[in-house]
Amino acid sequence: MSSVASAPVRVRFCPSPTGNPHVGLVRTALFNWAFAKHHQGTLVFRIEDTDAARDSEESYDQLLASLRWLGFDWDEGPEVGGPHAPYRQSQRMDIYKDVAQKLQDAGRAYHCYCSTAELDARRDAARAAGKPSGYDGHCRDLSAEQVEAYQAEGRTPIVRFRMPDETITFTDLVRGELTFTAENVPDYGIVRANGAPLYTLVNPVDDALMEITHVLRGEDLLSSTPRQIALYKALIDLGVAKEIPSFGHLPYVMGEGNKKLSKRDPESSLNLYRERGFLPEGLLNYLSLLGWSLSGDRDVFSMDEMVAAFEISDVNPNPARFDLKKCEAINADHIRLLDVKDFTERCAPWLQAPFAPWAPEDFDEAKWQAVAPHAQTRLKVLSEITDNVDFLFLAEPVEDEASWTKAMKEGSDALLRTAREKLESADWTSAEALKEAVLAAGETHGLKLGKAQAPVRVAVTGRTIGLPLFESLEILGKEKTLARIDAALAKLAA
Ligand code: GLU
Ligand code: ZN
Repeated sequence: MSSVASAPVRVRFCPSPTGNPHVGLVRTALFNWAFAKHHQGTLVFRIEDTDAARDSEESYDQLLASLRWLGFDWDEGPEVGGPHAPYRQSQRMDIYKDVAQKLQDAGRAYHCYCSTAELDARRDAARAAGKPSGYDGHCRDLSAEQVEAYQAEGRTPIVRFRMPDETITFTDLVRGELTFTAENVPDYGIVRANGAPLYTLVNPVDDALMEITHVLRGEDLLSSTPRQIALYKALIDLGVAKEIPSFGHLPYVMGEGNKKLSKRDPESSLNLYRERGFLPEGLLNYLSLLGWSLSGDRDVFSMDEMVAAFEISDVNPNPARFDLKKCEAINADHIRLLDVKDFTERCAPWLQAPFAPWAPEDFDEAKWQAVAPHAQTRLKVLSEITDNVDFLFLAEPVEDEASWTKAMKEGSDALLRTAREKLESADWTSAEALKEAVLAAGETHGLKLGKAQAPVRVAVTGRTIGLPLFESLEILGKEKTLARIDAALAKLAA
């Protein structure tokens, strides 16, 4: 048992449906999901779609599809419902309006009439004078006359939360004790002038109403935590919230050049990983290493193992580096771990249009079943399967000029002729015998196996790299292999 949680755990994952899901978002979902499972708690999935300008229905659908593809499940939220429904903030506007009003009635929030230009001017002046440059409390205690005057000018106010003039300290589950002084956390807007509630309000209000016990989210949101704690205290006084949750901020993820991986970086797009044929379990395994580890010497593990071992206190506060090579290597390991049948099934999309360059009727199931185990030990991502097996289903091998030039040297024709001879009389039920044949052909011409097999490989598969050659030849069959060597000899002669 961990010391973190004694009462039932309720965590939330609450993305905004803006654009394609990205890996940072998936890491946050993963850590919340693992935390909930580890503590037999509840994962609430909430959609923060109050920003009508940026949120879209398409992004929402894509988000749900992506989370399902990754294999996440949630206990409350879209598609599953729950006691705190609805779970889309766009359907909860009345709740926020009501809470904003209660906060104002209790003096915990107030109307602020300052225009952007006024705020900017005062901020610049404060900066120039070396003073804190946040909101200066100008509208905190306006008199009735001042309010009337502003209204007469036609100003429409925002609602601003009144921060207590006190230092806020909390113990971050990842970073330990953190302190924010009052001057660094000024009063902040919670409702726009047009009446639209802001993230600053709706997020903690829903966390309170949904009885969230632990808020685990990215470090980029750390600065909103003291504000939310203060708002929580007000909500407790108003009877809206019960308890302030614990907070844990997950480390930044750094990309190329040690810059923060941004939503806009192509390598952060979840779709890309899905299209390249990452396995959900491989990708999640890698993403779990962004700030956490199972043990010093084991990078590859299942999600069950992660859930069993996951402690939020083990998360490392230092920035994590996103390493695509390592991500691929871990995915490759997960591909090896599949049973062959599962592997062949998961490859299916890449053996069809639009990826497969062969005609559907030229696909040969028996050959595919025969070659699959050899492919399984070599792929980093499933999409690589197409190029690796196309020699089996295309009438002619692909034409790859670079491979041809690299493999076909002076003397390659002589070598190919000898290889053809030896292969013709070889035992075609044994890859080992085919290897002996090419080895012997090489010896005839003073070539080691590596050099001798390169022209054979290019003649037969079109490429310099691919699956183990002799197994490939055996599966392709004698007749086609010899015909392709003949075609290559003809091309060399031309
Ligand atoms: N909707 C917010 C976001 O996607 C949630 C932040 C939070 O976890 O508090 O950034
Ligand atoms: Zn103001």
